[in-house]
Amino acid sequence: MGIVVQKYGGSSLADADAIKRVARRIVDIKKAGHDVVVAVSAMGDTTDDLVDLANGVSPLPPAREMDMLLTAGERISMALVAMAISDLGFTARSFTGSQAGVITDSVHGKAKIIDVTPGRITQAIGEGHIVIVAGFQGVSADTKEITTLGRGGTDTTAVALAAALEADVCEIYTDVDGVFTADPRIVPTARKLSKVSYEEMLELAACGAKILHLRCVEYGRRYGIPIHVRSSFSQLEGTWVVSDPQTSGPSEEDTMEQPIIAGVAHDRSEAKITVVGVPDKVGEAARIFEALAEAQINLDMIVQNVSAAATSLTDISFTLPRTDGQVAMTALARIQAEVGYDKLLYDDKIGKVSLIGAGMRSHPGITSKFFAALASAGVNIGMISTSEIRISVVVDESSVDDAVRATHSAFDLDADEVEAVVYGGTGR
Ligand code: ADP
Ligand code: ASP
Ligand code: MG
Repeated sequence: MGIVVQKYGGSSLADADAIKRVARRIVDIKKAGHDVVVAVSAMGDTTDDLVDLANGVSPLPPAREMDMLLTAGERISMALVAMAISDLGFTARSFTGSQAGVITDSVHGKAKIIDVTPGRITQAIGEGHIVIVAGFQGVSADTKEITTLGRGGTDTTAVALAAALEADVCEIYTDVDGVFTADPRIVPTARKLSKVSYEEMLELAACGAKILHLRCVEYGRRYGIPIHVRSSFSQLEGTWVVSDPQTSGPSEEDTMEQPIIAGVAHDRSEAKITVVGVPDKVGEAARIFEALAEAQINLDMIVQNVSAAATSLTDISFTLPRTDGQVAMTALARIQAEVGYDKLLYDDKIGKVSLIGAGMRSHPGITSKFFAALASAGVNIGMISTSEIRISVVVDESSVDDAVRATHSAFDLDADEVEAVVYGGTGR
């Protein structure tokens, strides 16, 4: 029997009873004859609480210390899950990311996994133990410092372990029954997708559908690991993320044609910065974005207005993670004299709504239908960006829910009967 790699999110580990329930599920797999490796997240909203605590102490905590603090959340879970397993008469060994051989680059707060050397895991498995790994963390190959993989990163830990251990599948256990056509917390009539392609899941995750961490999907695709997203609160089959839903994953009775639209995603974690009055000449944009790159900031949408003829000045707006807002503003302020722009504007009361579907490539009229749905819901569009299989708009933060619901209905994604159950979590 092969190795089973599972991941339990914070919403599945909210308290002592939840931890005991998860331990029983893990032990059942072991009893069925499998070797089990489990990546765990911090309990409930622990990570958010630790972030709040840090911000209460310092407005801009040093990134290294932030990682030291946040990794403690997953260490609490791993030890408690191992204890609950031992209480059921099985032995478990918990390991930090570093002990488990999760090697990363040295970027604190959003480190990338560059290698997994699971020697201690395979040794523990060989000795008959169930292995519990603290998710969302690793150790930098260069600096030897402890790093974190970015919010939601335990998904990536799990898929990276599945790849390193050559598991057939990685199971992601959460508080909903799978990947739905929209966040069931906003659209109760959202439908569960039985399968979705890596390609569409990458866009959904990149656009804020926090059901899966973006890099976990990238990892799964690169190493060909099918990801099975399902609920830890039910026994239902979840959503399979695979390369080609037509040919891979479990087969269904009726092999339907793939739907045009996979789903609607939303994101409330971004902010918008506008650099006002940038001289319209060669090299200005390059200098601005060089400063942001040096500060390790990932940008999302970028819009440059046509410069006003009278002034030859232009405005450049872009979106970025809110958590990087202060660092970006500081980096840009530093180059104001050099670039010669007028001022900076910061807006974090924005949200992004995205429509995703591989069928967009071959079906015209999707954009007009999307924008018409937003218009009829009274939602004003601030910025627009597209890829081959996605259209995203920036809207006012207060319009996000209306925009998601209107779009979901306009594309006939609503289920006739409510099938989405949110079993736990606070949605934070
Ligand atoms: P975990 O604690 O298990 O990591 P998360 O809170 O990170 O759980 O992710 C699960 C949540 O993702 C769900 O409770 C749901 O609110 C949200 N979500 C957003 N978009 C979707 C989607 N398209 N399908 C399912 N859940 C979604
Ligand atoms: N505990 C971390 C977070 O809340 C990592 C994770 O849950 O995947 O983001
Ligand atoms: Mg998560």
